[in-house]
Amino acid sequence: MEIRKINARTVTNAVKKLFMDCNYYIGDDITAALKRGLECEKSPVGKSVLSQLLENNEIAANEQIPLCQDTGMAVLFVEYGDKVVIEDGGFEDAVMQGVREAYDEGYLRKSVVSDPVFDRKNTGDNTPAVIHTRIVSGDKIKILAGGKGFGSENMSAIAMLTPSKGVEGVKAFVLDTVRRAGPNPCPPMIVGVGIGGTFEKAAQLAKKATLRAIDTSNEDERYAKMEQELLGEINKMGFGPAGLGGSTTAIGVNIETYPTHIAGMPVAVNICCHAARHKSTVI
Ligand code: SF4
Repeated sequence: MEIRKINARTVTNAVKKLFMDCNYYIGDDITAALKRGLECEKSPVGKSVLSQLLENNEIAANEQIPLCQDTGMAVLFVEYGDKVVIEDGGFEDAVMQGVREAYDEGYLRKSVVSDPVFDRKNTGDNTPAVIHTRIVSGDKIKILAGGKGFGSENMSAIAMLTPSKGVEGVKAFVLDTVRRAGPNPCPPMIVGVGIGGTFEKAAQLAKKATLRAIDTSNEDERYAKMEQELLGEINKMGFGPAGLGGSTTAIGVNIETYPTHIAGMPVAVNICCHAARHKSTVI
């Protein structure tokens, strides 16, 4: 395979479009789940919230305005083909420029502060983004991008479980985390679960799980079954849409896994709100 040259501007334009689009247009999987929730929800307040969310998302798409005021911190999962060379700039700078332009020209709220403890000064352009890059074989760049709101991000948790905790231990930790989150993550939520790897890999898997379409299941039927069981248990908790009561607390549970060490079983839970914004592209 020949080396392929991609101009930095092409990367910037692609990233800019991803973040503008994901903030204006909710995915079809989320819309279908909200509609299903509206049909099944017994709580009148819950029903009303779901219909307002659907209306809100429609207005955002029609008028090209952000579907939530918190337009999130930019997170990208990149599969970078090893035959790609970026011309007229560097890859990371090109991505940051795309984020900058999307948040500026798209009238998206700038939500990132520089130093996390002392200064907490807004960087003014929503950069830096969080970029997870894998080098893969090929001559393309695949980008999965999401704007992550922190009402739900703050409710996430990780546990370094011992293997003896088994399936029940995993389920108990996921359910405990969601129960503790309560109404805070702007339900109906999507629960991303990362199991395996190391401490940081589990967290990364959980984040990636929130970006997977909720009308898909884990390829391993044992985990697919766990996804359905957890979804059922979460929806018995009663938090409901916007945390105002009802049976539509979550619209999806996605599990991603990775091999791990013989002595451990890391489990991370990353919660995403109903404003589940993600889009992907291939350059
Ligand atoms: S958690 Fe989600 S829905 Fe709630 S304010 Fe933040 S981005 Fe918006």
